[in-house]
Amino acid sequence: MSESTPSFRLASRALKKDDTVIKVQGQVIGANELFLIAGPCSVESEKQLMEIAETVANCGVPFLRGGAFKPRTSPYSFQGLQKEGLRLLDQAARTYGLGIITEVMDLSLLDTVYGHTDILQIGSRNMKNYHFLKELGKTDKPILLKRGMEATIEEWLLAAEYILNGGNEQVILCERGIRSFDSALRNTLDLGSMALAKELSHLPIIVDPSQGTGRRSVVSAMSKAAVAAGADGLMIEVHNNPDEALSDGPQSLTLSQFENLVDDLEILSSVTGKRFEKQKTEMVDV
Ligand code: PEP
Ligand code: MN
Repeated sequence: MSESTPSFRLASRALKKDDTVIKVQGQVIGANELFLIAGPCSVESEKQLMEIAETVANCGVPFLRGGAFKPRTSPYSFQGLQKEGLRLLDQAARTYGLGIITEVMDLSLLDTVYGHTDILQIGSRNMKNYHFLKELGKTDKPILLKRGMEATIEEWLLAAEYILNGGNEQVILCERGIRSFDSALRNTLDLGSMALAKELSHLPIIVDPSQGTGRRSVVSAMSKAAVAAGADGLMIEVHNNPDEALSDGPQSLTLSQFENLVDDLEILSSVTGKRFEKQKTEMVDV
């Protein structure tokens, strides 16, 4: 990859030196802000989502994640609550004043998901779905683009290029770990690539330490490492009962682990130049 003439023109700092800053739902992604997203891997029930959303909001975290349509390795695994999951996300967002991010798995689901989310999440398995990326370029909502689990940095930035080239400039990169020789962790969280992508590209970049490690006991450590390394934000899986979770329980923080992590992030953010303050999100009457 030549640094003087990168193949990913629109995504590169060669074309645009200053950081791209994305504003969504009153939040700033990029610049001097640390942008936090938390929630379950999958939306499972009203009780589950509302309990988690309450903790997320009380921690001052502005965005709730939750998969309604889930890309699962096995067709026999839980596939998500689908439209009912979207309805529950709406309800949680309204009740607790949170922004929503959820995955859109396929072009045929874009219309269904579009109205229920503030940020469209594009999963690792879709990073090379070029026709889909082109169509996402025609949308007007921010796109969180996960790194493919086997993608090089150049392939990842070229995937972003497809979306930018279609006219949507609101792309957020997300490092979520790559496959490596060692199966002790689910993936290898590649913070070196995160830092390099930030150097090569003006796009904001966040880190997902949950898919990135697959193991609850190391998620807080890697969250702090990512922030110390300059990430613009984090997306963290948290569950009210991780042992009974229908997907990704082993990598989901408990509610109290999550609260402790947010306390640490608030302290850490005061020395990293990316601000996060744990003010309480206002409750909204429904
Ligand atoms: C997820 O965020 O739950 C997920 C499925 O992520 P990825 O696409 O990175 O595997
Ligand atoms: Mn997950």
